[in-house]
Amino acid sequence: MKKVAILGSTGSIGTNTLDVIRQNPGRFQVTGLAAGNNRELLGEQIAEFSPGWASLSSRQDAEVLEKRWGDKTRVLWGEEGLRETALSAEAGTVVVAVPGIGALEPTMEAIAAGSTIALASKEVLVAAGELVTALAEENDALIIPVDSEHSAVFQCLRGENPAQVARIILTASGGPFLATPPEELNSVTPAQALAHPRWRMGRKVSLDSSTLMNKGLEVLEAHHLFRMPLDRIEVVIHPQSIVHALIETVDGALLAQLGRADMRLPIAFALNFPERRRPDFGHLDLTRAEKLTFSEPDRNKFPCLELAYRAGRAGGTLPAVLNAANEVAGEAFLAGKIGFSQIPRLIEKVMDRHKTRPVAGIEDVWESDREARESLVGLLGKEEQWT
Ligand code: MG
Repeated sequence: MKKVAILGSTGSIGTNTLDVIRQNPGRFQVTGLAAGNNRELLGEQIAEFSPGWASLSSRQDAEVLEKRWGDKTRVLWGEEGLRETALSAEAGTVVVAVPGIGALEPTMEAIAAGSTIALASKEVLVAAGELVTALAEENDALIIPVDSEHSAVFQCLRGENPAQVARIILTASGGPFLATPPEELNSVTPAQALAHPRWRMGRKVSLDSSTLMNKGLEVLEAHHLFRMPLDRIEVVIHPQSIVHALIETVDGALLAQLGRADMRLPIAFALNFPERRRPDFGHLDLTRAEKLTFSEPDRNKFPCLELAYRAGRAGGTLPAVLNAANEVAGEAFLAGKIGFSQIPRLIEKVMDRHKTRPVAGIEDVWESDREARESLVGLLGKEEQWT
């Protein structure tokens, strides 16, 4: 049986992963489950999957579960909990699905321990792409993307000579505001921003999809995962979310991966790799599919996309700054403190103020992350400084 640990087991990717495992009986052994604050659901997951390790954010929550399940599962908390959960897979697979870069260090430790990483937390590669990919190379560890677009690219690239791949094309649904007139954008509500038209996802990724920052982060993720220069990664709007990504080879052939918008498909691919296995999760009948459309993203209406390219071109600490500023600006919007259009403006201001330097180690990532958060919090409420 393949050993699997899940960081972020109660979120959307985590619960879908457990569903894939449930539907492949006898194939996977769940060794560790780490959640944030959802004690109740983690308790149910422990009851069903009997992992050796489990973890929650708070000590108090962990102690409650330890009391109930302690005879079969060690329940830890905080950073140590995430770390032990990640290492519990030994040389198996660690599914990393914690929003943000909270799982950066446990992910790196799991790579160093020889685990395969099924990566859903794109922020890890955005903020620390060079460190993480270098470490994976050094340890011969595989990073298999769970993000649907990157899973699609990964599948299209199989068997291709990387030197003969000219471009990567990521599709974007366009989010809930694709058809919203630009002048109405600033008055949209958090509830509208979180209502993604195609995918049911966590809050962070849903909000990022509405600003197109999600696609920007995905461009940076693809840049590191596939070692593709940024000027050869393109984004097209494809509202039906059926074509997940394409690659173009040097002779002009376009290869695409298509499928239903169901995260269990890329998760099952990552867990079973290099095999493909039943059970499947439904088929796409092209004769019944909607008309597929493709168009260029509106970079003026959604400035976050360009901000991500800018951060990627600069490299060094700027992508970590972009990532942290985006997180804080997004939280401020969800808390009703700023308007939707102010998200990109604040991020840009924080990027302008940052002195980009090279990333020599993980402390550079954390330092610029902290700087960016402080810088953005300082700007909140002082509109004259950034509008
Ligand atoms: Mg995606």
